[in-house]
This record gives sequence, C-alpha cells and structure tokens, in this order.
Amino acid sequence: EVTIRDLSKSFRIDGDSLTVLKDINLDISGGESLAIVGASGSGKTTLLRVLAGLTEPDSGSVLIDGEPVHGLGKERAVIFQEPRLLPWLTVLGNVAFGLEVQGIPGDEAAERARHYIRLVGLAEFEGAWPRQLSGGMAQRVGIARALTVQPEILLLDEPLGALDAMTKMTMQEELVRIWTEESVTMVLVTHDLEEAIFLADRVLVLPKTKDTAIRLIDIDLPHPRDRSDPDFVRNRR
Ligand code: ATP
Repeated sequence: EVTIRDLSKSFRIDGDSLTVLKDINLDISGGESLAIVGASGSGKTTLLRVLAGLTEPDSGSVLIDGEPVHGLGKERAVIFQEPRLLPWLTVLGNVAFGLEVQGIPGDEAAERARHYIRLVGLAEFEGAWPRQLSGGMAQRVGIARALTVQPEILLLDEPLGALDAMTKMTMQEELVRIWTEESVTMVLVTHDLEEAIFLADRVLVLPKTKDTAIRLIDIDLPHPRDRSDPDFVRNRR
C-alpha cells in the first residue's frame, strides 16, 4: 500500500519557484490500478518520479507499506515511454540483465527472464536483437524486463505513448492481463483518457492551477480484467 501525505514539490526556474505538486494526499491500495491524468505540465511525471524515489519532494511523505521511499527500491519498477534496450544484448539478455546485476546466476536469470518473455508474447524472439524489433515489441521487452525483478508496484510513464493506435490497443489489453496475472499495483501516467478508463480502477486528475485540489474519479465499469474480455473488447472496437 502506498500512502502519500501532504506532498509538495516546486522547481526553481530562472530564479522563480514553480509549484508543481501541492499538498497531495492519496492512498493507493495493493493491487490497485491508478491512472494519473492532467494537462501538460500539471506534474504527472513529477509525481511518478517521486513515487519511484527518483525525485525528492520538498515536503510531505511517501510510504510504501509504512516504509519511507528513498531511491528506487526493489519493490518498484519503472517503465518509460522509450524502453532504451541495450543494443548489444538480445531480447533474453536485456530481460535477464537486471537479474544478473543482482547476482542471480546466469541459468536461473535466463529461466526467470524466459517466463516474462513468454508472458509478453515474445517467446519466439528471445534471440532477436533490439534493432530487429518494432516499437511495440521493444516496449514489451521493456515490460518483461521490469517484471523480472518481481516488483510489487509498476510505475508506468506514458508507456504506450510512442506506439501507433492499433499496437496501443493491443498493448492496453496486454497490460490489463499482465496486471491481473502478476497481481501488481499499477500507477500509470497517460495523456489518453480512454486509456486511463480502460486500464484503471481510479483516475487521479492533477489540476493545472495549484490552488485547486486533486480529483479522484472511480471508474464505474466492469473490473479492468473483465474489460479485456472478448465481449468488452469487441464493443470497444
Ligand atoms: P507532460 O504531460 O507534458 O509530460 P507532466 O504533467 O508530466 O507534463 P511534469 O513533467 O511533471 O509534467 O512537469 C511539471 C512542471 O515541472 C513543468 O512545468 C516542468 O517544466 C517542470 N519541471 C519538471 N522537472 C523539472 C526539473 N527537473 N527542473 C525544473 N523544472 C522541472
């Protein structure tokens, strides 16, 4: 469970102070899928980076299961818009890399990596090189790589933003399936309201003017995992 209390963050730009997040209070329960939306510059990425431990807030606290967040811990994995795969490693090598860095022996790392490569539907491509992959495939590798460390919380910053419309739709369905099968907590930044509604239990709307409070909207639809049922998907298309 994530507990955010009185979180504020400003940046200094040319001697001026720009308040990006102001007095944010939010609880995210384990296994929940939360989408963060808001106008450009409203602080979505900043909030995600604070949750990731990549940006220090000015004040307030972020607790994960009661423990303060300092730096990127093993229980969280971040997925960005561009997966930035290592070009000199194959798909398998890229996915296993994080495990090997953790000191997990090669065979075991490869076995675990293969499980996640299968999960994202790339079993036949484990020996492929990054340059041979389409954008959607590369992002799937990025998702597999994030999952191999078995995070409790998956933080996604516009993960499908660079993909074409059809690939995006397929990947949205895959994200729902992965979220259900891996029972992770998902926090997803997106520009795309339809995507937010498809993937999330709740949508957090960040205001542009910081004297306005955040809004939390419960999505009144079938549970996200049922949103990828063939019937729901057919209606959507
Ligand atoms: P977008 O939808 O355009 O990606 P966003 O909602 O994710 O925007 P942020 O990236 O969080 O917004 O940025 C919010 C504001 O904070 C912007 O005005 C940005 O210029 C500023 N900002 C973000 N990071 C920094 C930084 N490291 N230094 C200075 N200003 C920053």
